[in-house]
Amino acid sequence: MSTTLAIVIPVYNEQGNLPELRRRLTEVCDGLEGFAWQVIYVDDGSRDGSVKMMLEQNKDDPRFTLLQLSRNFGPYPALSAGLAHADADVVITMDGDLQDPPEVIPDLLAAWQSGAQVVFANRRTRQERGLRRLGIEAFHKLFALLNDFNMAANSGIFGLLDRQAVGEFNNLLERNRFVPGLRWWIGFEQRTIHYDRRDRAAGESKQSLDRLLCLGLDAIFSFSYKPLRLMVIMGFCISTVGAFLTAGYVIKRLVGVEQAPIGFTTLVTLILFLGGIQLLAIGLLGEYLGRIYDEVKQRPLYIVKRRTGVGLPPQAVAPPEQRSTPG
Ligand code: UDP
Ligand code: MG
Repeated sequence: MSTTLAIVIPVYNEQGNLPELRRRLTEVCDGLEGFAWQVIYVDDGSRDGSVKMMLEQNKDDPRFTLLQLSRNFGPYPALSAGLAHADADVVITMDGDLQDPPEVIPDLLAAWQSGAQVVFANRRTRQERGLRRLGIEAFHKLFALLNDFNMAANSGIFGLLDRQAVGEFNNLLERNRFVPGLRWWIGFEQRTIHYDRRDRAAGESKQSLDRLLCLGLDAIFSFSYKPLRLMVIMGFCISTVGAFLTAGYVIKRLVGVEQAPIGFTTLVTLILFLGGIQLLAIGLLGEYLGRIYDEVKQRPLYIVKRRTGVGLPPQAVAPPEQRSTPG
């Protein structure tokens, strides 16, 4: 009996990429021996012709299935929706803009066949330019430095989870989902393969810079207590300096060598400095608190509007030539 493979792809306004994506996925996956495969597109509230195209693809070839969310929830919730609906032995997750080349799928499967239950596809190179590239690189460096688990940087959505790992991933209840981090967090036998990240095949990135910044902050705050600890250390250092200064002033007063009230500049500097640090610390607490509020509200992570072909295990979805055979 063949192994079942599901490929989960979040899609938001990708009409320019869908035909090529289908062509290349079909070519690669049909070349895999012993796999019954299925694509689960998760439409994240697209407003272009993507949904129509994906429905047409499903009509042509029922191995391309579609899960439609009720609005735009973001790539990580969309991915989580797809994973919750993937009933296969192995699940691959990837972007829908061909930045994650389908041709790497056999390498992911080879890593799985040699015993890995979680496989990361890390970028050896990337094509982004300018501010976006700087931002992404700064994020990965900062994340590697700050995360509490020594997690390797440079990994995105692209990767593989086996059935057991998907089950555990689906059991995670948190709303704030930095998928690469969570995939690492669940453990199991993990392996990393490397690939060259391409440029987007068509269209613009769907993540604006400020949204990328939010995702980056989410990732750091959900995998690191270090910012809080840093504030505690800073508070401790400043209080120590403060204690010594105070002691010095008191002694000077007691022995009667107190100077005339010069030191206005020192005073202003200190007040501004301490005020700034306090606001920073409160803001930081707020960042964590806001995220706790999100968790406590217990809103669902996403809402499914419609399923087309999703829910049937991959071996039940016949490829087109078998479908058209009479009888
Ligand atoms: N995406 C999504 N919802 C969004 C934004 C993006 O499902 O709100 C999808 C998008 O269609 C693509 C993947 O997530 O398949 C990665 O998005 P994008 O290429 O815009 O991100 P980048 O590669 O620039 O980080
Ligand atoms: Mg992209």
